[in-house]
Amino acid sequence: MAERHPIERRRRARALYATGIGIASVAKIMALPRHTVWYWCVGNGRLDLEAQATIPCPRCQDPPEPPPDPAAYAYLLGLYLGDGHLTLTAKTPVLRIACDDKYPGIMVEAEAAMLATLARKVQRVRSVGCTGIQSYAKHWPCLFPQAGPGKKHDRPIVLEPWQEEIVAEHAGRFLRGLFHSDGCRAVNRVTKKGRVYEYPRYFFSNKSADIMRLCQLALNRLGIDWRMARPDSLSVARRTAVEMLDRQVGPKR
Ligand SMILES: [Zn+2]
Repeated sequence: MAERHPIERRRRARALYATGIGIASVAKIMALPRHTVWYWCVGNGRLDLEAQATIPCPRCQDPPEPPPDPAAYAYLLGLYLGDGHLTLTAKTPVLRIACDDKYPGIMVEAEAAMLATLARKVQRVRSVGCTGIQSYAKHWPCLFPQAGPGKKHDRPIVLEPWQEEIVAEHAGRFLRGLFHSDGCRAVNRVTKKGRVYEYPRYFFSNKSADIMRLCQLALNRLGIDWRMARPDSLSVARRTAVEMLDRQVGPKR
């Protein structure tokens, strides 16, 4: 029964379960029967998964491979380019995504994406109003070769061809990561003749012209209209465009 599902899918279910949301919620999120999720996370199915618990670095394979779950990676790359930081000075590199405490759902997704990509363990580091989702792993720099000293907007951010392929294939997940970190969905309410009209719109702000261009390219790929509100801030305001982006991103939660 379980063998029909690829190992990445089983790992993702386990990663979600490890965040403490329960079997029923994992089953709902992944559109799987509860007994299948139970078998992987609690039942005997977990044993063979634990035997393969170490995710080998896909980029250090010969030949190098894409990450095992490209959709999760596209999301994580979006988060990383927004509010992420990869510290190379520690003994073991540490990837950290800063998450606003208002959005616990984003924290769960960030953790699941790290576990599906490379992490064996993910930690939460609390500070005022925000939580760092972080993971230590020797091979994070293989997956995020854009890491380097200084701020992201002070150096060129150029994707490698294998990353470009993933971002092209999973543009919606990439945008979800970008908007979950450096974006927002704001609702403008206007009263006309006693009736209230709501105009939702999205903003994405980033000081790096390279990261802004990656956001524009992903929006273009999905045919979503955008315009620059300021040199470092993009807006999606046309109704059909907002509806299209709602299917990929939606309100933060
Ligand atoms: Zn590696």
